[in-house]
Amino acid sequence: MAFEGLTAKLNAAFKKLRGKGRLSESDIKEAMREIRLALLEADVSYKVVKDFVKSVSERCSGQDVMESLTPAQTIVKIVNEELIRLMGSENQRISISPKPPTVVMLVGLQGAGKTTNGAKLAGLFKKQGKRPLLVACDIYRPAAIKQLEVVGGQLGIPVFQMGQENPVKIAKAAIRHAQQHGNDMVFLDTAGRLHVDEALMNELKSIKAEVQPNEILLVVDAMTGQDAVNAAQSFNEWLDIDGVMLTKLDGDARGGAALSVKAVTGKPIKFIGTGEKLDMIEPFHPERMASRILGMGDVLTLIEKAEQALDQKKAAELEQKMRANKFTLADFYDQLLQIRKMGPMQDLLGMIPGMGSMKNVQVDESALGRVEAIILSMTPYERENPACLNSSRKRRIALGCGQKVEDVNRLLKQFDQMQQLMKQMNGKGKKRKLPGKMG
Ligand code: GDP
Repeated sequence: MAFEGLTAKLNAAFKKLRGKGRLSESDIKEAMREIRLALLEADVSYKVVKDFVKSVSERCSGQDVMESLTPAQTIVKIVNEELIRLMGSENQRISISPKPPTVVMLVGLQGAGKTTNGAKLAGLFKKQGKRPLLVACDIYRPAAIKQLEVVGGQLGIPVFQMGQENPVKIAKAAIRHAQQHGNDMVFLDTAGRLHVDEALMNELKSIKAEVQPNEILLVVDAMTGQDAVNAAQSFNEWLDIDGVMLTKLDGDARGGAALSVKAVTGKPIKFIGTGEKLDMIEPFHPERMASRILGMGDVLTLIEKAEQALDQKKAAELEQKMRANKFTLADFYDQLLQIRKMGPMQDLLGMIPGMGSMKNVQVDESALGRVEAIILSMTPYERENPACLNSSRKRRIALGCGQKVEDVNRLLKQFDQMQQLMKQMNGKGKKRKLPGKMG
């Protein structure tokens, strides 16, 4: 995820301040210098950094900070508020037209992730009960139509296409088609080029003029840093866009585009793409992003991910089983699968407060995989009745998943401990002391 370097550097600057009871002007000056460097190294545009540090400095040199009993915390609070302001103070959503269909026009340079993320966005609205239609208006790249059909197919979203027909005609026909077929949202996947050029802009302008979309979303690749910001500026000048979808944030270690786009173009980031898979898209929340940047985690997004991934019915069943002490290895496996659905562990870790700045915490994703393999190597009877696992069964299981008998034993021991703990929490069974601190 983005911002690792920035998080670490900002935290280092704050740490120095924390050691001091009162702050002198030179302490604050030094902190501002470090914040400035951290932002510049994160590839935030120069002018944006200058303005940002100016506002933070002004607020920090006020009496509030100097006289505060916890000046370092007050400064973190100010930086947090200014980061939120920098990225747009409120969450900006797509406004749904009272007269369907709502037409969303996706524009951007080639390779920015327009086709993939347009489909992801349509998928997001489909989950919310909308009936989207994807429209192939990129008539130049031969594979573009096919690509849209493939991703549409994966998401179960219809795709409208008319081959190499004129894009304005396609867009108009698609809207008529949507009206006739009950599609309440239309996503136009327009053509891109390697660079901003006049021919492309004129084509997009004529689509805009003829179709009058409710929303023009510009898709930019976060990994291209300031180039993304420059592209955003040009597109905005030509088309007066409504918002930005920032893709490939998962691969962007610095975060400069995320921090500069709003300040440079005046247009908010509305969505972020966080991976290649078709469900890896999130609405952009400036306050949550600021919290992630400062290493304070993003508990709200974590909870939302859990809610989306967890099957509510299954969760209730599991709770029942736990209460009745009937939680088996099969249930344990189910739970592992649900956690997996929430995404890579490394990303989840960044959302836990305090973990964002811990660059060196490496999650061993394969450990989960090994546990899964062991459970899968058991028969259904064994998963329900782990007590039957004698040494010959354990040997067979270990052989079946390519692991050692000790690994199987370790898993069984952990599972046993977990069951003991559940018994205690349910107030049943012998009152044994909890391991660790409470023992
Ligand atoms: P287009 O030319 O703008 O339509 O771009 P595509 O939709 O074809 O995407 C270009 C490449 O970027 C594809 O390989 C996508 O899988 C990849 N991609 C798109 N969004 C993301 C993202 O959020 N994260 C990552 N890692 N890759 C992405």
